[in-house]
Amino acid sequence: MGILEVKGVNKRFGGLQALGDVNLSVKQNTVHAIIGPNGAGKSTLLNCLVGKLMPDSGSVMFDGQSVLGRKPHEINQMGISRVFQTPEIFADLSVLENVMIPCFARRDGAFRLHAYETVGSERDIRGQAEHMLEDVNMADKRHMHAGSLSRGDKRRLEMAMCLVQEPKLLLLDEPTAGMARADTNNTIDLLKEIKAKRDITMCIIEHDMHVVFSLAERITVLAQGTPLVEETPENIKGHPKVREAYLGE
Ligand code: ADP
Ligand code: MG
Repeated sequence: MGILEVKGVNKRFGGLQALGDVNLSVKQNTVHAIIGPNGAGKSTLLNCLVGKLMPDSGSVMFDGQSVLGRKPHEINQMGISRVFQTPEIFADLSVLENVMIPCFARRDGAFRLHAYETVGSERDIRGQAEHMLEDVNMADKRHMHAGSLSRGDKRRLEMAMCLVQEPKLLLLDEPTAGMARADTNNTIDLLKEIKAKRDITMCIIEHDMHVVFSLAERITVLAQGTPLVEETPENIKGHPKVREAYLGE
């Protein structure tokens, strides 16, 4: 049994079958990549995992519990965190404040800033956030405005905001999209670093094969809404079905 078990998931948008009978099993503490051509249904699948979309049928079990029908913040509390394509940070706040916000949210059960008054243990939360920033090597930047960080550091900060919630599963939708090679390599290093330090499962949707082969232990290939193959990176490279569907050969 994987930490994430997707069974028979279907999702239609009008006449379009975006997901057709998707099965996916992600093992605990692994990095699992989902690849596939544009329009294959990767983002739709991810949206079904985080409560942004409701599948028409099928089941999604996380850590033994169904996520279907739950609100995004409830799923987040179950231990699933999502990293966005463009870092979602509060540009006008300091780096430290940015990391403190999800700490309050975690404690209070919802994304409510007024928890600041009611929790009454700001020092704990500050300490937790500072510790997190040390963990991602950003302690020296804690008083900077988040908006003035470099692109790579914004990504690093966003990761800290996710990780401070201690997710069991981190979902990443094309985390290196639009990045230059140097930033992409920094992101790969950051994810490796994060993985090495804690028990965490990562499910990464990615177009860039360099990223996939640098990080993933298992790869699922999605084509036209259906998983074609699930394999190790070594076995994916020369797989005829993958070459046909994904590389257009
Ligand atoms: P991928 O992330 O693999 O590129 P998507 O999951 O974004 O693919 O999209 C899968 C298919 O579903 C595409 O054909 C896309 O146009 C369609 N689609 C995605 N979201 C919607 C939506 N909200 N309404 C209608 N069609 C959608
Ligand atoms: Mg997508």
